Amino acid sequence: MTTLDIQRDVPLAPFTTLELGGPAKYFVRAEEEAMLADALRWADDEGVPAAILAGGSNLIVPDEGFHGLVIQMGIGDLEFHNGGAVHAGAGVPWETVVNEAVSRGWAGLECLTGIPGSTGATPIQNVGAYGQEVAEVVMAQPGVDICAIYGVDVPDTEGRAGMAALVLESGAIIDGDTLYQAFETALPAYARPAFIRVQDAPELTATFKLRKVELQKQGFDPKATSDQIFYRDDASSQYRLLDAETFALIERGEVRF
Ligand SMILES: Cc1cc2nc3c(=O)[nH]c(=O)nc-3n(C[C@H](O)[C@H](O)[C@H](O)COP(=O)(O)OP(=O)(O)OC[C@H]3O[C@@H](n4cnc5c(N)ncnc54)[C@H](O)[C@@H]3O)c2cc1C
Repeated sequence: MTTLDIQRDVPLAPFTTLELGGPAKYFVRAEEEAMLADALRWADDEGVPAAILAGGSNLIVPDEGFHGLVIQMGIGDLEFHNGGAVHAGAGVPWETVVNEAVSRGWAGLECLTGIPGSTGATPIQNVGAYGQEVAEVVMAQPGVDICAIYGVDVPDTEGRAGMAALVLESGAIIDGDTLYQAFETALPAYARPAFIRVQDAPELTATFKLRKVELQKQGFDPKATSDQIFYRDDASSQYRLLDAETFALIERGEVRF
């Protein structure tokens, strides 16, 4: 048996992204598997329902709260094994797993960057590989030759904002209205890129792909590149050329995604 620190009447709003809702009648943090098992047993013995709370990014708590035991997922071990296996506790932030894999040069998870929440929630929530979906939609647009999808840090934005770097076929141009409509039709709101970068003289990998890690580091500052950068303007339903003034508004959190 582990020692459970069961607390009473704990407000749940601070644990969620939307910061809404009432308290948990009982609340405990599970930092190892045995604690989770004990917590579930405790709820069973008390005859109260149990619910899992992780990163709180996809959870709305009702005003009356939860009349049972909320178990906050804190299992935080993360191991990378030779041969490509990853052992990640349910409470490890998903972005940490993706970043650690990428920093080791391991491929496969990079398209799942920028998704808030915990590792344990990814199978439960069937987290989508939006980078791959977005790439398919972008590549279906006339005039697009190559594209890369990645996330960039934007102040006051949870997770990362999606960015697409494109190389256009000779003579092709970006039509901000058409692109916006195509993305609106084909992609859920969270997956629509906030920024589009059109690369003039792209550096390619040996397999003719854009260098995503470099692009990600460069972000979306139009002053840092001679490439055109567009931003998603939901008010006018189009992608607009990003100028220094709008960049400053985004940096100050006055334009948000
Ligand atoms: C800005 C933003 C962008 C997003 N982008 C994407 C995206 O691109 N693709 C996508 O698929 N989703 C996306 N989401 C949704 C969200 O990231 C996922 O649903 C994520 O998996 C939620 O993780 P969490 O740890 O915050 O879960 P929570 O919000 O804490 O919990 C969500 C649900 O999962 C259950 N749960 C959580 N962990 C466990 C566990 N270990 N065992 C059993 N049940 C569990 C909870 O009980 C609850 O019912 C986005 C959300 C936001 C706010």
